[in-house]
Amino acid sequence: MSNKRIALYPGTFDPVTLGHIDIIKRACLLFDAVRVTVAINPSKDPMFSIEERLRLLRESVKEISNVEVDSFSGLVVDHARNTGAVAIIRGLRAVSDFEYEFQMALMNRKLAEDITTVFLMPHEKYTYLNSSIIRSLAQFNADVADFVPPVVAEALKDKSKE
Ligand code: ADP
Repeated sequence: MSNKRIALYPGTFDPVTLGHIDIIKRACLLFDAVRVTVAINPSKDPMFSIEERLRLLRESVKEISNVEVDSFSGLVVDHARNTGAVAIIRGLRAVSDFEYEFQMALMNRKLAEDITTVFLMPHEKYTYLNSSIIRSLAQFNADVADFVPPVVAEALKDKSKE
């Protein structure tokens, strides 16, 4: 167990998209185990509760071995340490992601020299995809089937009826 190379993939996942799944699959090829972790951020006002986001993530990754899903509040590097992770996975879609991600990665390295942020690029068909676009599309009942796992498409339909 202690020799396992574990990577932590933190995010808001509100909701999980096929872009996130693409990153998870790539990370699984590089690491023995990937822990996808939903960040509990009280300053954000999410569409899906923590419990809903966990359920949607778990359903979406159930076919992929070596993936676990959990949630945390606090510093990502603390959660990485507590779970034995050696790396933090982040996705890079476009130059626009770079500045924020660069700042976070350097700050996390300052806090925990031994944990390395690894950036992965998704397939180009997912480079324009993010959770907030999905939430907007769903509000107007647009078809999101090409962008999210089926369980998420269902959950979005249910939300629009609420
Ligand atoms: P956060 O609020 O931390 O950015 P997200 O759930 O939106 O949380 O994203 C988590 C990580 O996944 C981030 O590194 C983000 O850049 C990446 N990501 C989000 N959407 C995509 C996508 N379509 N392709 C690749 N990476 C993505």
